[in-house]
Amino acid sequence: MVLNSGSSSIKFRLLQMDDRSCLCTGLIERIGLDNAIFTYQSYTGGSAKKVQPVRDHGTEIELALKAITDPVTGVLKSLAEIQAVGHRIVHGGEKIIKSELLTPEIIRIIEQCSVLAPLHNPPNLMGVEAITRLLPTVPQIGVFDTAFYATMPEESFVYALPYEYYEKHGIRRFGFHGTSHHYVSRRAAELLGKPYNEFNCITCHLGNGVSLPAVKDGRSVDTTLGYGTMCGVPMGTRAGDVDPAVILTLIGKLGMSTEDVHRLLYKESGLLGMSGLTNDMRDVVLAASEGNKRAGLALKIFAHCARKYIAALATNLEGRLDAIVFTAGIGEYSADTRARICSGLEILGARLDPEKNRSTGQEAIISSEDSDIPIVVVPTNEELMIALDTEEIVTSLQQLP
Ligand code: ADP
Repeated sequence: MVLNSGSSSIKFRLLQMDDRSCLCTGLIERIGLDNAIFTYQSYTGGSAKKVQPVRDHGTEIELALKAITDPVTGVLKSLAEIQAVGHRIVHGGEKIIKSELLTPEIIRIIEQCSVLAPLHNPPNLMGVEAITRLLPTVPQIGVFDTAFYATMPEESFVYALPYEYYEKHGIRRFGFHGTSHHYVSRRAAELLGKPYNEFNCITCHLGNGVSLPAVKDGRSVDTTLGYGTMCGVPMGTRAGDVDPAVILTLIGKLGMSTEDVHRLLYKESGLLGMSGLTNDMRDVVLAASEGNKRAGLALKIFAHCARKYIAALATNLEGRLDAIVFTAGIGEYSADTRARICSGLEILGARLDPEKNRSTGQEAIISSEDSDIPIVVVPTNEELMIALDTEEIVTSLQQLP
């Protein structure tokens, strides 16, 4: 079972690992409200939808387990068939560098990292607590978004501040969406028939959040997100790179509080702020096509920034870029955005095929025959990546003497 336990929603998926098939998926939204929505779908066509007040994560996960074993909609005869639970955990800080069995020691580290991800780590842990109570004998594995970046060299993760800010205060680049990048980079290598440990690529996770790591020999060496999740390429509502002098001006001259600045940069900027309309790329593209100037500008800024980072990140790869990979909502579905980003990447030897680029929402190689560098679309599958890591750890535990 894979669990992604967020502050107001929980996603779960049950996978049969022999053939990696999905037995059922579920989503619980608006946790804590009177009208929380529970939706469930099984591979047999069974489905359920309930709207009911839900107090907490424990109650919700209990609902999920009931649906899984329900005589009508369920896919398991008994909960004893669940052999392991893999949790998406957002922040493991510097100490956690790979997926881990969730021992009390690892849980303590996740708690300590809550200051770095206050919106994510606490609800992630609520999911762990609920499973501990409901399935006490089942091993639980944490798969960390930050762990993929443990291989970055110092020059990529230390900021050019006085060094003690890193040493004493732990201020450094972490990087996020690691599970997604791990999955799509591995899958792109498979699709192109290259061994992953010799594969160099730049993966572009373009969703509501955006990050682009450079991956060298199957290991991340640099990325666009940093200490937090606000820098790099503009996102749905986040500004991306802004000169810190602007922030000082907002505080010093405009009298904004830290909360005001946080809200501005995190919730009111990005596609929403630039277009003045929406954070949804579909609507920005539509508005631009109808002549809305700010929407048009938003598209230009987004593509300009992503393209600039792709070229810059390529310099980390010692002269060999094997693929540029697009994933997440915008990367998988927005042919318009991919075309805008790739226009200019000919300098790297990457040429898009406009016809192949029409493909949406599925694995595809969208570069032209004469492109030196393949451009690939890989739909992200964080759940499968979590399940694979979970299976690997549980199998290795079972082999211990
Ligand atoms: P999250 O980071 O919340 O998981 P997603 O990966 O679902 O985000 O991506 C959300 C983004 O993908 C939104 O900006 C949405 O507009 C965009 N998107 C989804 N489908 C399309 C589409 N068909 N065309 C353009 N953009 C799309």
